[in-house]
Amino acid sequence: MKPEFKGLQPKTTNKLKEAVEYAYLDNELFIFLQDESSRQELIDSLVTTFFQEQQDDFEDILQINQSFQEYDLITEKLAASTNLDSNPKWGIRKAVIRNTFFRKTIVRVYDSQCAFCGIRVTKAVNQNIVDGAHIKPFAQFYDSRIHNGIALCKNHHWAFDRGWFTADEQYKIIVSRELEEISPYSKPMKDFHGERLLLPNKEQYFPEVEALEWHRQNIFQG
Ligand SMILES: [Zn+2]
Repeated sequence: MKPEFKGLQPKTTNKLKEAVEYAYLDNELFIFLQDESSRQELIDSLVTTFFQEQQDDFEDILQINQSFQEYDLITEKLAASTNLDSNPKWGIRKAVIRNTFFRKTIVRVYDSQCAFCGIRVTKAVNQNIVDGAHIKPFAQFYDSRIHNGIALCKNHHWAFDRGWFTADEQYKIIVSRELEEISPYSKPMKDFHGERLLLPNKEQYFPEVEALEWHRQNIFQG
């Protein structure tokens, strides 16, 4: 702490920056922070710890189409700095918090199961093999409603983002015909063609048909 701030408790980030000269990070924490997925895990833990009571509200918030004004603001901030680490403006922080809740809520409503292949593997409280994925990319639409989400395992999240598969308006899986695939120990992706996505119990959480249509037209590579 700078000598003039001795004993004071800075209450805002800006005040904290003014008050603190430098900080030592715990060695283990420093190593942990070098890895992007570890950083994400830490953000998730912090957000869920500090916003525990609001957790249920977030489910409601994520069902409401947020105003575009807010997205414009977030876009502006993101444009000003695409690097979250160097410029933690509130708009970005808000987007980070919303995204944490988006991902967690999606995983929860899909009961930690990949909508494509059904895999469910969890460890401890915050490690999960499925992601809460955006159907229409967040970077383009800033749409973190539950209806723009789908839970997918790492492999199928990656494949979905690259348009290797999509789903029709009946939620039936459409797999690209161009995949060359060897899958000795599990069901090949192309065998999922025509099967229905594994969806949440409540229909109100289903992906929006319009979002899937956008994905078919803009991302899917038949
Ligand atoms: Zn999967």
